[in-house]
Amino acid sequence: MAREADPGEVGIEERKYVRLPTFMERGFVDLQNEVTAKRICCVCGTCAAFCDKITINEGEGGRKEPRFIENYDTVCGLCYAFCPRTFLPLPEIERRIFGEERKRAEGDTLGVYRSYYTVRSKKADIIEKGQDGGAVTSLLAYALDEGIIDCAVVTTSDNKPLQGLRGRGAGPHKWKPITKVARTYEELKEGAGTKYTIYPCVVGVKEAMEEGCNAIGFVGLPCQVQGLRKVQTAEQPYDVGIEKVRLVIGLFCMENFTEALLDFVASVKDLDEVNKFDIKGEEFLIYGYGGDRQAIRLDEVKEYISEGCLVCMDFTAELADISVGSVSSEEGWSTVFARTERGEEVVKGALEKGYIEAKEMEIEGLKSIRRLAKNKRIRAA
Ligand SMILES: Cc1cc2nc3c(=O)[nH]c(=O)nc-3n(C[C@H](O)[C@H](O)[C@H](O)COP(=O)(O)OP(=O)(O)OC[C@H]3O[C@@H](n4cnc5c(N)ncnc54)[C@H](O)[C@@H]3O)c2cc1C
Ligand code: SF4
Ligand code: SF4
Ligand code: SF4
Repeated sequence: MAREADPGEVGIEERKYVRLPTFMERGFVDLQNEVTAKRICCVCGTCAAFCDKITINEGEGGRKEPRFIENYDTVCGLCYAFCPRTFLPLPEIERRIFGEERKRAEGDTLGVYRSYYTVRSKKADIIEKGQDGGAVTSLLAYALDEGIIDCAVVTTSDNKPLQGLRGRGAGPHKWKPITKVARTYEELKEGAGTKYTIYPCVVGVKEAMEEGCNAIGFVGLPCQVQGLRKVQTAEQPYDVGIEKVRLVIGLFCMENFTEALLDFVASVKDLDEVNKFDIKGEEFLIYGYGGDRQAIRLDEVKEYISEGCLVCMDFTAELADISVGSVSSEEGWSTVFARTERGEEVVKGALEKGYIEAKEMEIEGLKSIRRLAKNKRIRAA
């Protein structure tokens, strides 16, 4: 199980970079033995994003997992060092990212944050396409317009009907997530909406770098944010260009699902006719374009939960610049935590320039999020 590191084990020096096992110390075999073989890989894609010898593809039983695709491993140790599931020195990463640690003694389960809000986009086209309040897409639009980022790695899906594969059974292709390097408002909007299947989104950062982006925004799940933050805070034996990542938006996440979920959905509704998926309380919801809604008990889709999620302790993307979720905000609004100085600047700037509107969140709302975060930790433990 992913664990918070014993400081002695990874050689953390007070207020300095985390000293990670690097050159010639650990290789892909170690990653395989300690992560994939133990079935705790969260398929974040961090290992594959920073090493060309690794790719993520289908493993046993259709599970996605990293694979070594060359004959010889130089055993440089980077994949092992960057993987969020080998070890996770949270106190040190928090000091590096936020300049402070959370108040562990008080049993804090939300991480470090400066402010929180309930937010809605002020752009009608984003509200229409967004999952909740369209906060993520609007914050990215502001950051792009202001030159804070020159692209954003978002997760889109192929919603076009597949030629010759319409109807039931077309499932595995439709709604399948894929990352996109968005450089325009229209491209950002393609990412809007939640896709409930696992995709190694961190590989999108590599794509953005290869496309020449120098100020990258990234949106991803808590485990993906952990991977990126490990890369950002590790002592770098090689230049991987991580300073180009300028804004990290994390999504709340209780769990994610394997692609088999889409086959299941295709058996109850034509995937071409699905406009949106959502999870509310104990229900997995499927919305059609005609406004129809099908509710399936979460219990019925539990078997599709990705194995790596079962040991995950982070509900609110505790290491992001900004975290966004739906819980504790009313329908059509998003819950937003600004965690870093940059994150708070982006939220406040987007408010001032009319990209978003915000309301204060009731303290009861915060308590609910804390409760869910605690439940997730208990489940993982
Ligand atoms: C798998 C998953 C589980 C979630 N679970 C919860 C939960 O338990 N409780 C809760 O409050 N919120 C949860 N969320 C977050 C919620 O669904 C919304 O993403 C969030 O409220 C932002 O809504 P928005 O309208 O501001 O975003 P939008 O403006 O619609 O933008 C959505 C952003 O999400 C990104 N995205 C979509 N699908 C994925 C994916 N599979 N992987 C990575 N990035 C993706 C896109 O790049 C896009 O930028 C979950 C999200 C995901 C992807
Ligand atoms: S070369 Fe380095 S990063 Fe790539 S698989 Fe080997 S140890 Fe991992
Ligand atoms: S958890 Fe992420 S970095 Fe670790 S092995 Fe899996 S995909 Fe690679
Ligand atoms: S629960 Fe969410 S954040 Fe945790 S491993 Fe699964 S997808 Fe990643």
